Amino acid sequence: MTDQSKIEWTDFTVNFWEGCQKVGPGCDNCYAEARDIRFTGGSHWGPGAPRRKVKGGIAKLRKINREAEEFRAKHGHWPRVFCSSLSDIFDNAIDPAWRDEALREIGVSTSTRVQLLTKRVGNVEAMIRDNWKTLAWPQHVGLMVTVVNQTEAERDIPKLIELKVRCGIPWVGLSIEPLLAPISLRWLNVFPENAPYTAQKSPDGTNEFDGLRRIDWVIVGGESGPNARPMHPAWAQQLRCQCDEADVPFFFKQWGEYLHESCFNPHCGWSPKVIEQDGERYMKAGGPVMKDRRPIRQRLAEFYTEDEFDRWIYEPHPQLGGLSAAHVIDYHQDGMERVHEIIGRLESGGYL
Ligand code: SF4
Repeated sequence: MTDQSKIEWTDFTVNFWEGCQKVGPGCDNCYAEARDIRFTGGSHWGPGAPRRKVKGGIAKLRKINREAEEFRAKHGHWPRVFCSSLSDIFDNAIDPAWRDEALREIGVSTSTRVQLLTKRVGNVEAMIRDNWKTLAWPQHVGLMVTVVNQTEAERDIPKLIELKVRCGIPWVGLSIEPLLAPISLRWLNVFPENAPYTAQKSPDGTNEFDGLRRIDWVIVGGESGPNARPMHPAWAQQLRCQCDEADVPFFFKQWGEYLHESCFNPHCGWSPKVIEQDGERYMKAGGPVMKDRRPIRQRLAEFYTEDEFDRWIYEPHPQLGGLSAAHVIDYHQDGMERVHEIIGRLESGGYL
């Protein structure tokens, strides 16, 4: 079986080439560029820099496609494949023949569920294969755009939705990672009659979520790695609330390198590095990691009945700084570890 990806929202990554050019603030700390610097001296980034073809990219996609039935039998869904995690498939600087070869291969890998992710949504229509246009887009391929602030959201999301309709894209998504500022997805200017951000309900009956409802999936996450910029929890929570209201699936990927002060448990026993941004304090994430990865329900089953388990999950625990396990898991980057840690104490005859 092909090696699976550690990225939570996909099963595999496939790259056809490496190299790119920064196009916005979301690219400032590009991990693919950092990787390129580490392994090849960083010669594949920027205008005019040659991109590096990945040997075996196409072979890997073919193998995933060949083994898709086996994967589905084991996991209950077709393999999701994120193409391209170390570049942007709609990069202007790519030899069109490379892109055409990659898209042709993606088009015939019909037993996979391909996730294309771009920061260049304006290039997509001109760069896809002719036989993908005019409602002939392959139905196993979805398209996501990355937006990291309000300006990018207002610029790119309407384009994504228009493309979805015009090309017949089966699903489209937003990757809001790294989330660098508050974003409102209300009153997306998808319809000319929607006056952005003016009212809860306009006189003609349109709704503030008419635009957002045309998005099939929203991923949100903070930034990790060197020079990471912190994400305020309110920004992520607001997006989750908007998705809840619009009934759009929301996936919270990670807090990132820093936790906001309000999410930090002062009883956790370690003293992290602290940074300040816009008058807010953030703590560098980290701390002890528990090794027992059995599901929490399974670990607690020997102590609690079904009803008691629900109570345990939702009642406040002093060991979690007065928060419930559900809250800690939802809102703290290392929430799962903290909950496993207190279950570990219970199992070894300790307190609860
Ligand atoms: S578009 Fe993606 S791969 Fe390209 S520089 Fe930006 S973050 Fe890096």
